[in-house]
Amino acid sequence: MSALTFKRGIHPNESKHLTEHKAINTILPTGDLVYPMVQHIGAPCKPIVAKGDYVFAGQKIGEAQGFISSPIHSSVSGIVKNVTEVLHPNGFKCEAVIVENDEKYAVLDSIVQRTNVESLSKEEIIEIVKEAGIVGMGGAGFPTYVKLSPPADKKIDHIILNGAECEPFITSDHRIMLEETDKIILGLQLILKIFPEAKGYIGIEDNKPDAIKVLQDATKDIDNIEVSVVKSKYPQGAEKQLIYSITKREVPSGGLPADVGCIVQNIDTVVAIWRAVYEGMPLVRRVVTVSGGAIKDPQNFQVKLGVSYRELIEAAGGFTEEPAKVISGGPMMGFAMYSIDAPVIKGTSSILCLTKNEVSVEEEKNCIRCGKCATYCPMNLQPIELNKYSLVGETENFEKYRGMDCIECGACSYVCPSKRHLLQSIRTGKKAVLANRKKS
Ligand code: SF4
Ligand code: SF4
Repeated sequence: MSALTFKRGIHPNESKHLTEHKAINTILPTGDLVYPMVQHIGAPCKPIVAKGDYVFAGQKIGEAQGFISSPIHSSVSGIVKNVTEVLHPNGFKCEAVIVENDEKYAVLDSIVQRTNVESLSKEEIIEIVKEAGIVGMGGAGFPTYVKLSPPADKKIDHIILNGAECEPFITSDHRIMLEETDKIILGLQLILKIFPEAKGYIGIEDNKPDAIKVLQDATKDIDNIEVSVVKSKYPQGAEKQLIYSITKREVPSGGLPADVGCIVQNIDTVVAIWRAVYEGMPLVRRVVTVSGGAIKDPQNFQVKLGVSYRELIEAAGGFTEEPAKVISGGPMMGFAMYSIDAPVIKGTSSILCLTKNEVSVEEEKNCIRCGKCATYCPMNLQPIELNKYSLVGETENFEKYRGMDCIECGACSYVCPSKRHLLQSIRTGKKAVLANRKKS
């Protein structure tokens, strides 16, 4: 059977060979741990510890503020060194709790393995996920408990695990699928307990045949879970594209997956759900790909949240040469970093250190009206029109041309022969629209 797919999209160089065959390496931090109070979409957390306090691993240190927010927990035991402003990996300053690791990893007394998982109600599972501070770990950072609580009129029949991992270089989900297979299935079954009428689908790109086989073997006797093989194409892992590939349903403009009966979860997020429910441990760890031509020994690390990028780069052998660009996330949708002294947060999927041969340094030229950006846009938008309206600040026309539907995949910038900064300008245009909406 041919792999499932969506309309348009591109085929960038995958560059996954650097790490895809290496087992996940679990490392412990050596320096201080930094926990920014912004690690999710929604209101920042409020620190609930003060300088000098002793904290345990798994202890809540940041309280969620409001419905769309998510608590933050310490990943180590030690003394709170400071509560102060730090540089967030996304480039802005925010409040953070800094913990001096005592290297004892003493866990909070109340965190114990659960023996009554079978008897938990769906409300109890959602409450555990909420209190564990679990958010979408693919980068979006949307609080998971909110996703698991759709309005009563939305009939959910598809729970889709996103194992596409379509961004070049990144292989953390691939390795988790191979190495934590049972936890993924048990985590998915917990979600299916919340939505008993739904079926679980694990979407995996066809460039990961080993993960497809492992998960097909592990689910062959489970009636309500199946593996969906999707085509290796970018941005296959974008929520709307993955939903279309598997269900042929289109999420309406401005709508959510729940509007078409779907909930999509990231692979590491489901492992976090397993850990919170079965082991009682909140979200304090994740798997991060450290890769790129400027890294001596690229690999995937399982790390404590709060560890610095610099420590992970050193654990990967350091630089082979001065990187031309350091990116947090994938090369298509990630953010350029101005400093590697930033902490790993819940949404940090990878740290890429690219050589000058791996980054495009061509100058932006005039548009030659070739139409390629529109031809490949997976949302069927007109990127050059959006670019134009963003640059001149015409927010009304930007909205008319459906600029707010842009999923910021960067496919248009990638194919543009004139190297127009399309994605950058569209992001600016979206921000301007949101700012206008706030004012009115
Ligand atoms: S306009 Fe947006 S959705 Fe379309 S290709 Fe560009 S970044 Fe992707
Ligand atoms: S791909 Fe680039 S050059 Fe071609 S129409 Fe779009 S913006 Fe213009």
